[in-house]
Amino acid sequence: MTERIECVQGDIAHQADIDTVVNAANAQLRSGGGVAGALHRAAGPALAEACRPLAPIRPGQAVITEAFALPNRHVIHCLGPVYGVDEPADELLAACYRHALELAERHGVRSIAFPALSAGAFGYPPAEAARIAISTVLTTLPRCPGIERVRFVLFDATSRDLHQRTLATLE
Ligand code: ADP
Repeated sequence: MTERIECVQGDIAHQADIDTVVNAANAQLRSGGGVAGALHRAAGPALAEACRPLAPIRPGQAVITEAFALPNRHVIHCLGPVYGVDEPADELLAACYRHALELAERHGVRSIAFPALSAGAFGYPPAEAARIAISTVLTTLPRCPGIERVRFVLFDATSRDLHQRTLATLE
């Protein structure tokens, strides 16, 4: 299983060799800071147009759109829990990864890139978020035979190292 998972440092908006990228969305599926801002800027205004009829979404939910000017086929938008507000946070965060992978599988996606959902503006403690992200991908992937590659794209080296260590521990 772990040969299908990789952790790299980079920008989620620059994953040209990946079929589908995951957005750390807000409930209204609008642009903003962090991951959502980077993806909406790179995709162009058509992404916001495509998102409008799908909003609002609930914590743990995932919806799919085209990727427009991004170098990918789809964007899957996930609303992670706001830490300390949306409960139970661990189950809602796990639901994001599980629903994103299941949606990707249904759309014939072969490779998918995730950011560290909820670990930025939404305040989830990074080590705990990484453990939930990786353990959920590990338990969900066996039900997603079409997905050949899962890439975690982390903005900085500290977060990349954390995810690599977590993967090594949980595999
Ligand atoms: P959330 O609101 O779900 O917490 P954020 O977008 O604020 O989402 O941040 C999620 C994580 O993604 C944080 O660790 C943040 O540093 C990181 N991040 C921010 N911008 C990018 C980007 N362009 N590519 C990859 N990761 C990013």
